[in-house]
Amino acid sequence: LSNLQNFPTIFSNMFLIKLNLTAQKSTSLVSKTEPVPNVQCTKQNRSQMCLMCQMSQKRRESMNNMYDNEMKIEFLSKSSNEAFARISVAAFIAQLDPTLEELADIKTAVSEAVTNSIIHGYEDQTGIVKLICKIRENEVLIEILDSGKGIENIEIAKQPLYTTKSNMERSGMGFTIMESFMDHIEVESMLGIGTKVTMSKVIKSKEDSENFTDMADITKITANTTANATIRGDE
Ligand code: ATP
Ligand code: MG
Repeated sequence: LSNLQNFPTIFSNMFLIKLNLTAQKSTSLVSKTEPVPNVQCTKQNRSQMCLMCQMSQKRRESMNNMYDNEMKIEFLSKSSNEAFARISVAAFIAQLDPTLEELADIKTAVSEAVTNSIIHGYEDQTGIVKLICKIRENEVLIEILDSGKGIENIEIAKQPLYTTKSNMERSGMGFTIMESFMDHIEVESMLGIGTKVTMSKVIKSKEDSENFTDMADITKITANTTANATIRGDE
C-alpha cells in the first residue's frame, strides 16, 4: 500500500525504454475491430496466410532489408536524461567500431537535439522525447522527436546564433553544430504538434582511417626528407 502511495514519485522519473532490435518478435498488425479471415497462418505454406499476416510479413521483410539493426528509447523531458540519450546512442553504435572522433561527433549532435526538445520543445512542461537509432551497413541514422510547441520558421531557427532563449544563455549554435558534426540533417516541425530531427553519418572503417594515417605519415616523411635535402643543399 505504501508503494501505491509513492506511485507518482516512482513514475515521475521513469524511463520508458523500448528496444526494437530487428531480431525481436514482431507484434500482430491485425486490428481487433477487423474480422480475421478464418485461415490458419503457417510460414511453411505462404499461400494459406491471411492477408493481414502477408502484409505484416512483407513489411517485416522490407524493414529487414532496409536496416541491419534498430533501437528506440522514450524518456521524460528532464535535463538529466540528456546524458542517458547520448550514452545510449554511443553504446548502440559501438557495434560499427567508430573512431573516438566519430563517436564524439554523434554524441554531441544527439545531445544538442535532445536538449532542444527538452528546453525549447517542452519548456517548463514535462513530455516524452523519442529517440530512434538505426544502422544500415556503415551508416547511422538518428531520429529525435518531441510533441512540444514546434518551430515557427525552420530556416530562421537553423541560422547560426539564432536563439529564442538568449536570456537563458543559449548561443543559438545547436543546429549549426548538428550540421557540421553529422553528414546530413533534416528538421520537420509544426507549431503545436512537435519537432522531428533526422540526422545521419557514415562511419568510416578503421582500416580506411589507418590507411589515411599511413598516407599522412608518408607525406610527413617525404616532407621531412625534402626539407633535410634542402638544408643539405642536395639537388
Ligand atoms: P544552443 O543550442 O546554442 O544552446 P539554441 O538552442 O537556442 O542555443 P539551436 O539549437 O540552434 O539554438 O536552436 C535554434 C532555435 O530553434 C531555438 O532557439 C528554438 O527557438 C528553436 N528550436 C530548436 N529546437 C526546437 C524544438 N525541438 N522545439 C521548439 N523549438 C526549437
Ligand atoms: Mg539548442
